[in-house]
Amino acid sequence: MYHQATWDEPLIIEKSQAGKRGHSPAGPSDTERKIAGDLGDAVPSALRRNGLPPLPEVSEPEVIRHFVRLSQENYSPDLGIYPLGSCTMKYNPKSAELAVQTHKLEKLHPEQDESTVQGMLALLYRLDRILAEITGMSRMSLQPAAGAHGEYLGCLIIRSHHRSRGEREKRTEMIVPDSSHGTNPASAAMAGFKVMVVPSNSEGMVDLDELRKLAGPNTAGLMITNPNTLGIFEKNILEIAKTVHQAGGLLYYDGANFNPLLGKVRPGDMGFDIVHLNLHKTFATPHGGGGPGAGPVGVTKELERYLPVPLIGFDGKKYFYDYNVPDTVGKIRAFHGNIGILVRAYAYIMSLGAEGLKTVAETAVLNTNYILSRILASGTYDLPFARARKHEFVLSAKKLYDSTGVRAMDLAKRMLDKGVHAPTTYFPQIVDEALMVEVPETESIADLDQLVEALLGVYREAETNPELVKDAPHYASVTRIDDVKASHPKTLTLHWNNPSVSKDRQVSNEEMPSQESKSGLTSPPSR
Ligand SMILES: *Cc1c(COP(=O)(O)O)cnc(C)c1O
Repeated sequence: MYHQATWDEPLIIEKSQAGKRGHSPAGPSDTERKIAGDLGDAVPSALRRNGLPPLPEVSEPEVIRHFVRLSQENYSPDLGIYPLGSCTMKYNPKSAELAVQTHKLEKLHPEQDESTVQGMLALLYRLDRILAEITGMSRMSLQPAAGAHGEYLGCLIIRSHHRSRGEREKRTEMIVPDSSHGTNPASAAMAGFKVMVVPSNSEGMVDLDELRKLAGPNTAGLMITNPNTLGIFEKNILEIAKTVHQAGGLLYYDGANFNPLLGKVRPGDMGFDIVHLNLHKTFATPHGGGGPGAGPVGVTKELERYLPVPLIGFDGKKYFYDYNVPDTVGKIRAFHGNIGILVRAYAYIMSLGAEGLKTVAETAVLNTNYILSRILASGTYDLPFARARKHEFVLSAKKLYDSTGVRAMDLAKRMLDKGVHAPTTYFPQIVDEALMVEVPETESIADLDQLVEALLGVYREAETNPELVKDAPHYASVTRIDDVKASHPKTLTLHWNNPSVSKDRQVSNEEMPSQESKSGLTSPPSR
């Protein structure tokens, strides 16, 4: 089970004892010493450090135990099933890690001359071709560092497209479904569009009549994910595409969760003009906690002229940075994106092959529907909207809440006590007391059964002993926290009292710029 941590466990800097060493690095070579000296002279004295940084001085076992202890306070797909809907928390094969952790890659520098990085450019070029084939697009930019970053790029491309037709001033509205991922309206707003929300119909799909009312001369585009966040495939997608195109708008496909479609269906064939993928969800990069990611964006032939530069070109003999993009939106990220993530994705795709990718999609959908059928047979949670689901489904615990006062959040917390991760809660917002379950292809039937037992177990406990569930988790390393207090700038102070760290380096929440003032957004509605 979990390592029982306590809040007063010392920080590593508090374990520091002068003179302790865990590692004896070789000293700098004469050349390195010279370079450091030259560089040092170039830095103005006001910017130079006066002494050594206050790093902890600890032994090797102390370092190892400290970080292993921290790692065990967390849960990950390397530990067990992780059904966090809309996140595709799959086990990532270690072969993809091996592909990145090579000496050759570590030593590459983005400023190197093209002729010396032909292998890397070949890999990026092929990845562009493969992802374009998978999505049905013409060309990809590998630069965006996340899904939301790709969406923002997509919005810039949509803007440029309308500008080139002299309609920039007129086309100000971006349509998103009410079940859309929060990043879609956020990206559209960041790019200066007015967000128009199209409601879902009784089957959990875009209401076509409502869409027809919204689409018009002010429409810049539609951003949508399919299957949508309810896990339902928008079967009217061709009609939706036609409606938006006829109104003069473009179609943006949010392909963050591409698991259910791999090798089966292509957004390009559904009528989409722009697509992003989340390599850190579907293509073998571990994610969570905001680590590095990649959200490559693919476009149709017509929109290639707006992609960020450089693209990767191939003249039949050598690979090169292609700056020949006449109406480029500019650069969206330093250099060529998060190379490590791109290499992992390439290794993952090559190890599976076209048939293997198809099997990923089929197994993910099968796993999800296995769980769903067991849940529905149990007579516990409700499943709003139509039955057929792809990679995920959204349950409602509303009935349970009405009869016991136990909320979806309480159920989720209690699931942690059962040794599994919880589903996503309260999203999408069109489902009351929502629990959103996505299980990827990497789980065995024993894992799936454990998850079902956990979901059903907490439900039954809530019926018989609601207090037990409301106070959960009881066995996790951190028990129930006050999430309202934790997110309010005035009530949470994040600092530690370490005499070796000067006061001005300690940060309390109160001193941080408040979200409200920075973004102009108000706090989320209280539940
Ligand atoms: C995760 C996700 C995103 C955002 O991706 P990030 O890499 O976290 O920015 C967008 N849309 C959907 C549907 C997602 O699941």
